[in-house]
Amino acid sequence: METILNQAVNTPNDLYGIENWGMDLVSVLPDGDLALANPIAPDMPHVSLPQIVSDLRERGIAAPVLLRVSQFLEHGIQSINGCFERAISRVGYKGVYRGVFPIKVNQQAQVIDRIVEFGRPYSYGLEAGSKPELVIALAHKLAREALIVCNGVKDAEFIRLAILSRRLGFNTVIVLESPKELETVIEVVEELGEEPLLGVRVKLTNRITGKWAESSGDRSTFGMNTDQLVAVLDKLRDSGLLHCLKLQHSHLGSQVPDVNDVRRATTEACRYFAELKAEGVELTHLDLGGGLGVDYTGEKSAAVNSINYSMAEYCDNVVETVAYAMDEAGLDHPTLVTESGRAVVATSSMLIFDVLEATLYDAPTAPKPETDDHHLISDLAAVAGYLTPVRLQECMNDASFYREELRALFRRGYINLRQMARSERIYLHLMSQIKALAAKEDQPAEVQEALDQLADIYHCNFSLFQSLPDVWAIDQLHPVVPLQRLNEHPDRRAILSDITCDSDGKIDKFILGDGPAASMPVHSLREGETYYLGVLFVGAYQETLGDLHNLFGDTNVATIELRPDGGFDLLHEQEGDTISEVMSYVEYDPRDCVAAFRKLVDEAISAGNLKSADRKTLMAAYRDSINGYTYYE
Ligand SMILES: *Cc1c(COP(=O)(O)O)cnc(C)c1O
Repeated sequence: METILNQAVNTPNDLYGIENWGMDLVSVLPDGDLALANPIAPDMPHVSLPQIVSDLRERGIAAPVLLRVSQFLEHGIQSINGCFERAISRVGYKGVYRGVFPIKVNQQAQVIDRIVEFGRPYSYGLEAGSKPELVIALAHKLAREALIVCNGVKDAEFIRLAILSRRLGFNTVIVLESPKELETVIEVVEELGEEPLLGVRVKLTNRITGKWAESSGDRSTFGMNTDQLVAVLDKLRDSGLLHCLKLQHSHLGSQVPDVNDVRRATTEACRYFAELKAEGVELTHLDLGGGLGVDYTGEKSAAVNSINYSMAEYCDNVVETVAYAMDEAGLDHPTLVTESGRAVVATSSMLIFDVLEATLYDAPTAPKPETDDHHLISDLAAVAGYLTPVRLQECMNDASFYREELRALFRRGYINLRQMARSERIYLHLMSQIKALAAKEDQPAEVQEALDQLADIYHCNFSLFQSLPDVWAIDQLHPVVPLQRLNEHPDRRAILSDITCDSDGKIDKFILGDGPAASMPVHSLREGETYYLGVLFVGAYQETLGDLHNLFGDTNVATIELRPDGGFDLLHEQEGDTISEVMSYVEYDPRDCVAAFRKLVDEAISAGNLKSADRKTLMAAYRDSINGYTYYE
């Protein structure tokens, strides 16, 4: 079988890097279907993803669809709590772990509800960074020991709710972000005559590497420096509230790439903890914030979108470092708190969409130059005559030279439309011959770059801005993989473009088995067969940061549970936005729009431009659209 890929002999696992980044959550079935494993019961048969997609489609849940896998989320919660429990017993740490999930990472009710449920046996709590998030947190029944940690800027209303919630048994901690915030706290405490649980956010001076380096160190926008900290301690003591201060908080930023950054920051946090204790503060909880990363690329290195440590290693490092520092300072081991969001939910959902059509940058056949054609057209066609592996680069250079010359001739009127079309086809056919030849062995970087420029464009049914905002905004890499035909060697390379009219709406960086790439292997589209692609590990941040570019709304969402018999149960479905819904987000009243359209129709009938009988057809078409899905149906 002819193939244009470098990795022609590789299995799909190697080609797409599934074994590197898959975390044993996905696999390839013998029939070529991508499949989901159940991490809670790894021996269970893997469930075919194309089967799930076609079943959902029969139930009326069409692509694009965000698929949440209940067991993936459960596994995330079990992993973080289990890894800390194991580290604690291995190190002989004399405190417990009480993690909290930061709501901002995925605020969807279906997700938070399950996190609370799966987390209850571990007394897992919630972190709220704003008033609305606190309101969400307080609508859940948490375990008696679980914490609600309140970060972010707080007004009196926020503080009042946090203090009053303690009457219901919530362990709501108000983390002071600034000396000014403390003034508001003191006012509310006086007004209510009730005591708060307080925390204090310290700004560590250690800077992390990676994308979120800015959110660490001196210039971090959150937390207090030593000077402010001392002012807060004095004021707390003066107002008789020092004994309410129980928790010390610091947050390094997200996706910390290097485990040694974690160790250094933890050591620094422990120094503050020991100093605060020496000041007479009755601290019991040490909160190290978020930052635990996800190895999206499977490279296992401190590279972009990768990390050089496992979750277990992170937990071991934190527990060991704190135990050592506390023993050194002669202090009891505090309760450990972390606010890992990304590492808990990223793997729990995936975006699945269909390819609508392909733009190919090659041609299977080419016409012969005609006798009266310009000699440059024959020159271009003649390149095929000396195309060999060693002269590949020369042939590419020649072909692009002739093509540019021919385009210039066309612009000046020396060759006509049909001649230009003929030369384009000859060029594109030459490119398909070059691609086939290039696929047989590794090419120099320059050739590979030129070949990437010739990759197909697969036009896909999704909006990058709505569903993968970090891919657009910060070049986040997620694994992207076809859901089917993985037993067939992909014969094309493509980049993906979305359905918005924005030229930024594309994915042109991929993670493959042998590292990052500017195009991905795909299969030729077949008539009458839907080709699905999946973007994996989109559970963190993507849903909440998405926007309404071109008014593409929320996609359909399905939450499923994998069944032991290889099937699945649909636990919940959420229909994507209709056009009338997205219209109302931008303050159009859909009913007014229907009325306005009807008025235009009636005016056209009065003016004699439209037959009365057309009214029904036009109104039905408008109504059908307004009630429909914003994506391609
Ligand atoms: C965003 C945030 C987190 C979550 O960070 P992850 O990197 O997703 O774990 C935790 N704590 C605070 C204060 C945050 O702002």
